[in-house]
Amino acid sequence: MSDVIQLLPDHVANQIAAGEVVQRPASVVKELLENAIDAKATHIKLIVKDSGRTLIQVVDNGIGMSVTDARLCFERHATSKIKTAEDLFNLHTKGFRGEALASIAAIAHVDVTTKRAQDELATHIKIEGSEVLSQESSAAPEGTSLAVKNLFYNVPARRNFLKSNQVELRHIIDEFQRVALVHPDVRFALFHNGTELFQLPAVPLRQRIVGIFGSKTNEKLVPISENTEIVSISGFIVKPEFSKKTRGSQFFFVNGRYIKSSYLHHAIKSAYEGLLPSGSHPGYFIYLNVPSETIDINIHPTKTEVKFEDEHSLYAILRSTAKHSLGQFNIAPVLDFDRNPSLDTNYSQQNSSPSSPKISVDTSFNPFDNSTSNFPKKPSAEGWEQLYEGLEATTPEKTETIETSLFEESQDRPLATTFQLQRKYIVSTIRSGMVLIHQHRAHQRVLYENFLRLFSSDSAPSQSLLFPLVLSYSKKEVVMLQDFRVTLEHLGFAFGVFEGETIEVLGIHSSLSESDVMEVFDTFLSNLSKDLPDHGFSLNDHFAKILAQCAAIKSGDLLDLPSQEGLVNDLFACKEPDRSPFGKPVFTTLTLDEIEKKLDA
Ligand code: ADP
Ligand code: MG
Repeated sequence: MSDVIQLLPDHVANQIAAGEVVQRPASVVKELLENAIDAKATHIKLIVKDSGRTLIQVVDNGIGMSVTDARLCFERHATSKIKTAEDLFNLHTKGFRGEALASIAAIAHVDVTTKRAQDELATHIKIEGSEVLSQESSAAPEGTSLAVKNLFYNVPARRNFLKSNQVELRHIIDEFQRVALVHPDVRFALFHNGTELFQLPAVPLRQRIVGIFGSKTNEKLVPISENTEIVSISGFIVKPEFSKKTRGSQFFFVNGRYIKSSYLHHAIKSAYEGLLPSGSHPGYFIYLNVPSETIDINIHPTKTEVKFEDEHSLYAILRSTAKHSLGQFNIAPVLDFDRNPSLDTNYSQQNSSPSSPKISVDTSFNPFDNSTSNFPKKPSAEGWEQLYEGLEATTPEKTETIETSLFEESQDRPLATTFQLQRKYIVSTIRSGMVLIHQHRAHQRVLYENFLRLFSSDSAPSQSLLFPLVLSYSKKEVVMLQDFRVTLEHLGFAFGVFEGETIEVLGIHSSLSESDVMEVFDTFLSNLSKDLPDHGFSLNDHFAKILAQCAAIKSGDLLDLPSQEGLVNDLFACKEPDRSPFGKPVFTTLTLDEIEKKLDA
């Protein structure tokens, strides 16, 4: 038999390598920005069209390339950054594999113009699918402009794998911010479809953070700093009172690279112990510098994990440094009973009066007549009403009771059919025994179906706010939210100013309260960075879930009797009362048989 092994042609090998290096437009952004930094640029402009699908261009004023280098840089393993394996252990550049440009050129149309200071003319090269189409001299300023067009034009599978424009743009902005946060001394700009999203002048770190995350950020930051043999730490942590319900600004950089580390995150989290409202996340911008021989830098280009030699010490130092900063700026409590009570309050409830139930209740409520329910009842409620059959005799009397005055009501209500357990569950009797309802999930279900219904109606009930609610976000966040403005308006939101770093809310849907609004936006923003499944994903559904999640009464909220009954009634008028919108069980029943069995045992 003849030999069967062949060497793959370069363009095929490059395309395969590209699969690892370039997963999405944001990967190209990362590689090009890092190359510009490595080229010592002080001014870097990123221009993107259609979330990177049609164009990703980085223009820098760095050292540029010679004619030969401009040709060579698209070859695999072509790098100016290391010469020997030992160099790997003393690396001061972002790139070193010489793989990025070769990979990118294999799966896109690339256009590069580059000029060194000592050269008279610039070199202009066009490449498509690893093939050089043209090379000429041209006039251009010093530095490099590299444009990547029609990404994945020859890899349809990859192209189809891309997420929505919002998600891809969000990834691009994330990469841009990560690089910008490490190099505050470099001036950056980002344009998307002709709109300027960021213009970041060269400034000290604190101003860079503020430039990215909005002017309100300044007051939230506390500096953190420590120097030891193992590590030097600098940066900022966010004061606990500004912590968010959603994971927001959490950044670790090690030797100038953005990394993710749940281990180090835990160190910070534990430094905040007792200072954060439950369910809140700390924010931080932490820069670690460690001797390069103590970390494994030979990491995969798209991976953000890193291996440290002495993780345990790093953890301890980081934790105590963060604690120290929190304490030094008088943020940590001296003693627990001295604690600022506002810190104990659930973030979302901080500005609202304590738990007045938000569900509206019809006082002429009759639990056995679904026509009085808040929401239209589905013709067949899957047989739920029959659970109540055994109680029908009490109906008229009960209805009357609720309609009479408060004082009489309290005396004449021997037949209350619901009560609240631990401010968490509503217990109600049913024909066959009793039902235990998770109040938060039940209300989520009710609101969710209500919101879904609103999407198919013309207009949602909106209530005007007495005073406009002015919310501050970063420019990026306002841009992201802008895409959903129309949807939000359909759901009863009314806006005034909606640009720059400000969103002015003039009206909200009547089942939301003012204090929910921030949580709604925060949740929505943090969901955008997740890869929402393409399959079966519907924006309306997504929105209805977020609104329901934020607006629903919480565990811990005290509900009066009419609210309890209203909720039970509304729940069982739902299409799917037994599951929360997130698939969790809403209630459980205990039948008389089961009770008797337990008692007879
Ligand atoms: P790496 O960054 O790992 O060396 P790349 O494929 O990203 O590999 O780049 C290959 C080489 O091309 C770099 O080593 C550098 O010499 C050159 N290069 C790439 N981008 C630029 C740029 N913007 N300015 C100057 N030189 C560049
Ligand atoms: Mg590179």
